[in-house]
Amino acid sequence: MAQKRPLFVMMVVVLFLAALFGVKTIADALRKEKAYQLTVNGRKWFTVARKDSLENMLDEYQKQYLANIDKNARIKRISFSQRVKITEVVVDRDEIGTLEAAKEKIYAVEDEAVAIEVKQGDNFWNLAKANDITVKDLEIFNPDMDPDKIFPGDKLVVKPFNPVLDVVIELENTVVESVPFKVEYRNDNTLYKNQKKILKEGIEGQKEVSYNITLLNGYQRSLKVKNERMIKEAVNAIVQIGTRKTVFKGGRVNYGVVSGKRISSLYGYRIHPITGRRRFHDGLDIAAAYGNGVYAYTDGRVVASGWNGGYGLCVLIDHGNGLQTRYAHLSKIYVSVGQKVSTAAKIGAVGSSGSSTGPHLHFEVIKNGRTQNPLNYL
Ligand SMILES: [Zn+2]
Repeated sequence: MAQKRPLFVMMVVVLFLAALFGVKTIADALRKEKAYQLTVNGRKWFTVARKDSLENMLDEYQKQYLANIDKNARIKRISFSQRVKITEVVVDRDEIGTLEAAKEKIYAVEDEAVAIEVKQGDNFWNLAKANDITVKDLEIFNPDMDPDKIFPGDKLVVKPFNPVLDVVIELENTVVESVPFKVEYRNDNTLYKNQKKILKEGIEGQKEVSYNITLLNGYQRSLKVKNERMIKEAVNAIVQIGTRKTVFKGGRVNYGVVSGKRISSLYGYRIHPITGRRRFHDGLDIAAAYGNGVYAYTDGRVVASGWNGGYGLCVLIDHGNGLQTRYAHLSKIYVSVGQKVSTAAKIGAVGSSGSSTGPHLHFEVIKNGRTQNPLNYL
């Protein structure tokens, strides 16, 4: 029958091939199987039977680096630095490896992390230098450490964990940060140099900052501000700063309110030069030449003027806000009660009136009824 001819021809061909290559080759061909091969940068790592198991393993490996990331962050991409590829192949059954062996290769480590213990006197700068890394690296390797607050016994990573397969994670995170306030200085010629007066306290603001972050094996590789949104503006502090220069220049000491020779007695306890008793001196004595001008500390109104017991000829000026200044032992007074005076107005002359051992100005600063150390005001 004509129909049997093709079958016959095929059998002849098979027998011919079997004779040519040997029976073993056909048996081998029957032992081949479909499998999945992992290549890294083009190099074959291993072959496993199941694709989903391999994919899950790689997935799990990558996800271990998500553990320390803010739960509110948006993970945009997880990838490998290396070219990692899964290819379907047909291989001999013997070539198919176990998942355990595959896992060992995937989780292989090139360098374990190296940590050191902080010793007394260490800081980020000397530790970075000693370990041949930058201060920035040290901060990146130790994200939970505050560089200003490291203590002996703390452990610091100086060489990061370095796996064979490098995981790159790209994420976006938005955090609220404080906005520092600025200080506006206003020149004030009624205050002497070094004197400051806070007119308004500053208040920190708040802003929302979105960052684009890239991590390599869990360590920050790049961090860029993507967007900033002000939630609450900072309120600037306003500070008045004195510009007023001393009254006279030259070899003499100048205290603003008088051109003197020296401070002859400080504020506080002292042995009184006349009574010899220990007592509290509630002003500053500035030895000065008889007749030297005495000037108003700052703007104000004269509330007392004239003889006042031990003070001798004395002027008391009220500057408002609970501040008063007193000028005692004068030889002359140029102002009267109720008179407005401006800063540095000449109000009297140095003398030795009252309980005084020589020409000097006794200068007192009174805040809310209590005397203050005038050195804090001059
Ligand atoms: Zn005095």
